[in-house]
Amino acid sequence: LVKTGTKNDYLFFNKTIEYQSIERRLLESAFRIALKEKQFYLEYQPKINLKSDQIIGMEALVRWNHPDLGTIPPGKFISLAEETGLIIPLGEWILYEGCRQAKEWQDKGLDNLVISINVSVRQLEDPEFAKKLTQILEETKLAPEFLEIELTESVFADIQNTISILQEIRAIGVQVSVDDFGTGYSSLSYIKHLPIDTLKIDASFVRDIHVNEESRAIVRAIIHIANSIGLKVIAEGIELQDQATELSIEGCRFGQGYYYSRPLKIEAFEQFMQKRLVTI
Ligand code: C2E
Ligand code: MG
Ligand code: MG
Ligand code: MG
Repeated sequence: LVKTGTKNDYLFFNKTIEYQSIERRLLESAFRIALKEKQFYLEYQPKINLKSDQIIGMEALVRWNHPDLGTIPPGKFISLAEETGLIIPLGEWILYEGCRQAKEWQDKGLDNLVISINVSVRQLEDPEFAKKLTQILEETKLAPEFLEIELTESVFADIQNTISILQEIRAIGVQVSVDDFGTGYSSLSYIKHLPIDTLKIDASFVRDIHVNEESRAIVRAIIHIANSIGLKVIAEGIELQDQATELSIEGCRFGQGYYYSRPLKIEAFEQFMQKRLVTI
């Protein structure tokens, strides 16, 4: 049991566990209420063509607006949602809302923007997932080529099952991107067997690409592999001009990060787009 010590240490440790489980149960019941009362909303972070500076799309990122606690970031509740299964109804709402908003923007004249939506491995395990996706696209009238789903590498732990569900998703016409690439399970050797469209270079390699030769080498390798098997590459977490420049030099065509824009609420995203259109 962790660290031995005095009786008091042990008691304290036990109390902590108990406290954590109470905290968790409180969070879970608050989460159920939040789902019912629609306390969630999406922010949108622009994705940029690094050469032309044009906006190619946006990633939807969920936030929880709690009446007492204010805005809670996904890092604080996604894993709870996954463990409790509540990610299924939440994830469905996220997909619906993201597609609806993307279609609304298209109708307002923001053409050709692809919306990227993070999908949890739990959602993929739902045998109804592809059917639900089809329904959402029909209801929102968003053409499937304007939707991309982002999956983290953990989905590739169960590779056989993943391949068939990804094939279904791509058969609908929806694109698939591997998020946080380079940090998880997938190795460059089997990436070629995966029915995917895009690799998203993890922010940890971008952070020091302009000063660290190893990070740059990893980025270069990822881009090289992607190019040779026909995948697109996007870099996430770009905060500095230098990082964008180095990524561009290595042949990375797309990126996103605070350097271009933070994730934005609907109105701020529209203002951001308007400013860009005026200055271009
Ligand atoms: P992710 O999909 O890898 O998203 C990137 C995260 O990095 C986001 O954090 C984004 O706000 C943040 N970010 C973007 N640019 C920069 C930058 O230049 N610097 C830094 N330091 N950070 C940047 P966020 O919104 O807190 O989301 C964290 C993670 O939570 C996401 O990582 C994703 O795994 C998960 N998540 C977010 N929204 C959803 C969702 O709708 N569904 C699911 N299943 N997961 C989500
Ligand atoms: Mg993502
Ligand atoms: Mg990521
Ligand atoms: Mg990440």
